Amino acid sequence: MKKILFLLILMLSFVSFSVDYNNLIRETLPQNDGYASLNGGVSGGANADSKNIYRVKTKKELLNALGSIGNNVEKIIVIENDIDFTIDSNGNKLDVSNYEVSGYNLKDYLKEYNPDSWGKNKISGNLEELRKKSSKNQEKDVVIDIPSNTTIVGLENVKLIGVNFRISTNNIIIRNIHFITPLDLFPQWDPFDDKTGNWNSQYDSITIKGGNNIWIDHCIFEDSKTEEIKYFGRKYEQHDGLVDITDGADNITVSYNIFRNHNKTMLIGSSDNKKSDDGKLKVTLHHNYFYNIVQRGPRVRYGLIHIYNNYYKNDNRNPDYKYSLGVGYNSKIYAENNVVDLENKGYESFVKVFNGKYITLINNLVNGKIENVYKNYESLDIQAPSLYNKMDNVNNVKDNVSNNAGIFK
Ligand code: CA
Ligand code: CA
Repeated sequence: MKKILFLLILMLSFVSFSVDYNNLIRETLPQNDGYASLNGGVSGGANADSKNIYRVKTKKELLNALGSIGNNVEKIIVIENDIDFTIDSNGNKLDVSNYEVSGYNLKDYLKEYNPDSWGKNKISGNLEELRKKSSKNQEKDVVIDIPSNTTIVGLENVKLIGVNFRISTNNIIIRNIHFITPLDLFPQWDPFDDKTGNWNSQYDSITIKGGNNIWIDHCIFEDSKTEEIKYFGRKYEQHDGLVDITDGADNITVSYNIFRNHNKTMLIGSSDNKKSDDGKLKVTLHHNYFYNIVQRGPRVRYGLIHIYNNYYKNDNRNPDYKYSLGVGYNSKIYAENNVVDLENKGYESFVKVFNGKYITLINNLVNGKIENVYKNYESLDIQAPSLYNKMDNVNNVKDNVSNNAGIFK
């Protein structure tokens, strides 16, 4: 009786939305929908008992619903309103002062590791150790492990602010959530990053680190609006990726999401030396909208990546644009029927080769013109990927993605 009443309340309470959430929360990845459909597909928590359907409003409720990383019972978590991980349970803003350990402050760090005096040497010593400890304190508040067999769905346009979902588990669905990516309060100076040195940060919105059979669908990923700060003449970069996929992760479909206004958008494969990634990192990207990203849409090592029916747009509000497809070591990218609009840039800016050489580019509409090859790269000698349900004619991609990517309407 209790169960029936609960279900009834659940059903009634979703009635006011135009999207049918009763169905949505139980949906599974369609058959053949990209590489995530391999090896059993993705059902997440679709068959959860009613007692394992959670409606959460706060960080605490979300953590309780997830349970420990080993909590692999099928569960559905519905996020009912915005949850801000950058404020504490009393509503106070969490900032540097909440995390920095005694003896650390940024002023001293900047003095110690100023390239004028420190030079191009490995960052080490007491202040770096204190920075790392401070960073660990923040990490405990920001990073959340998602256990296996879980579906997480947001209602309407709910925002998750400043959280990093970490997925090292299997069979997970994440849909209809607007992620505001975390700010790292303790970026690290790396004198060896480029000729100039650079600031690097550690948090993504979603870090898929060794997870399998993951479906990320109809979400929005972007940064909070922050003022640009520079130290040592370089941007004080407080973000890492939006969705990063590394460490042997496999069978992943990323569909109908918006990735916008961000620098390092999607890293697939973290190191040329990670030979264990070979044969893994199979990812399908379709019907995503990449708007004004600077780079990594995605940047790939080792992975086999099918990229079709995505829309890439860059306008003059993003003068820092570097590239979209990054061809890294042993990467195998097959990109077809995408639309690319680059203001004041040509096709050659769309692709950047790092340490790889194989990419297939077929029938992409770039600045209004169909492009079939890219002159400097060897075509990849693989069969065209066949794991997809419907490939849009390239002339329909912009409309379809513009109307349907992001939160369900
Ligand atoms: Ca504070
Ligand atoms: Ca990352």
